[in-house]
Amino acid sequence: MENCIFCKIAAGEIPSNKAYEDDKILAFHDINPQAPVHIVVIPKAHMAAGMNDINAGNADMIAHIFQCIPRIAAEAKLENGYRVVCNCGADAGQTVFHIHFHILGGKKLDEAMA
Ligand code: AMP
Ligand code: ZN
Repeated sequence: MENCIFCKIAAGEIPSNKAYEDDKILAFHDINPQAPVHIVVIPKAHMAAGMNDINAGNADMIAHIFQCIPRIAAEAKLENGYRVVCNCGADAGQTVFHIHFHILGGKKLDEAMA
């Protein structure tokens, strides 16, 4: 999709610090990390703007992302645990409208989630 920063990252038009890649998804280190380890996981295709666009037609991709997340976390040495976050809409502070999941870890995370 035109002017979508994550599509540009997926296409290699904007460089990223890759943590994992396969034919369907890409994981890269967030440019503005909120934790010692902060990885963003995206489908390479612009299949959904966010959580509200998940449906029967794209749920397999979401399942694939969630199957890969434990491997990405293990690779990032998050054996003590991690948090997965998906910001959805204005109140959650979503800024990029290409569905993505944040993996946060590398320290004892704040117990308050919001
Ligand atoms: P969200 O606020 O959930 O939409 O998350 C978007 C995330 O993308 C933010 O944490 C940004 O720091 C991150 N981000 C934006 N541009 C880049 C980039 N070029 N490389 C890596 N992460 C980025
Ligand atoms: Zn996109």
